[in-house]
Amino acid sequence: MNLESLLERLKMDHLQAALDGLCEHASKKDLSYREFLEQALEQEWGGRHQKGLEGRLKQARLPWVKTLEQFDFSFQPSIDRKTIRELSGLGFVERGENVVLLGPPGVGKTHLAVALGVKSAEAGHRVMFMTLDRLVTTLSKARQENRLDRQLKQLTYPKVLILDEIGYLPMNREEASLFFRLINRRYEKAPTILTSNKSFMDWGEVFGDQVIATAILDRLLHHSTTINIKGESYRLKEKRKAGLVAGTQLKTSTNEEEIADEAITE
Ligand code: ADP
Ligand code: MG
Repeated sequence: MNLESLLERLKMDHLQAALDGLCEHASKKDLSYREFLEQALEQEWGGRHQKGLEGRLKQARLPWVKTLEQFDFSFQPSIDRKTIRELSGLGFVERGENVVLLGPPGVGKTHLAVALGVKSAEAGHRVMFMTLDRLVTTLSKARQENRLDRQLKQLTYPKVLILDEIGYLPMNREEASLFFRLINRRYEKAPTILTSNKSFMDWGEVFGDQVIATAILDRLLHHSTTINIKGESYRLKEKRKAGLVAGTQLKTSTNEEEIADEAITE
């Protein structure tokens, strides 16, 4: 069998595509057989890893891809960098521990949650991002259609589940109990990353029931890291820089979050 057919049968597409270049490079650099083989396999592995990562990122349905490297920690001194460094080592994923990011709008909660999701995907974990609003709609619909159990099971497949924006929309008791069932399923098995603009004290109000809120917090916080961000909105900072200092110009904004940002910092 010739080399091309062997590569094809072994499904080494990435190596096949780069083979001519690799051979040329090897002879130019006078590489040993061992060095050449290493580079060739590295090429295949790198290609497969990249393809896998792209697939996992697509499946994750992130609103955008942002990394920890893109986060300006000097702008947000209330965040302990050591905690973030520890989280980026992904020990929390292995241990099935949760991460809760709290703070007012615009301080980077979603950015950090997404960045931890990207890190997890890079490490080969299955990741899923959902706003709480979408989660509640999905679960309510599944219950109406008598397939709640299957839906809950599906939501335990992603190793890392990111639930964004707890507290923006209040839930009724039924919705809260659906949320509780999900948290209970993932409890101690798979980590959940949550973001909220409400402090834990206000979660009773968010979930429309103090007892359910306590039960949710009990499971969520048992093994968890909470990052409480106290600071100015990054969005607002960017506007300031552009000369749009908070004032009437911002009030004309149609973006709810931007208006909320302003209300909080005023
Ligand atoms: P939140 O979820 O807390 O409302 P986001 O994470 O959506 O805020 O942040 C708003 C925007 O500002 C995003 O585009 C995010 O990437 C950016 N951002 C926020 N904080 C920082 C920061 N410290 N460094 C760099 N970009 C930031
Ligand atoms: Mg957000």
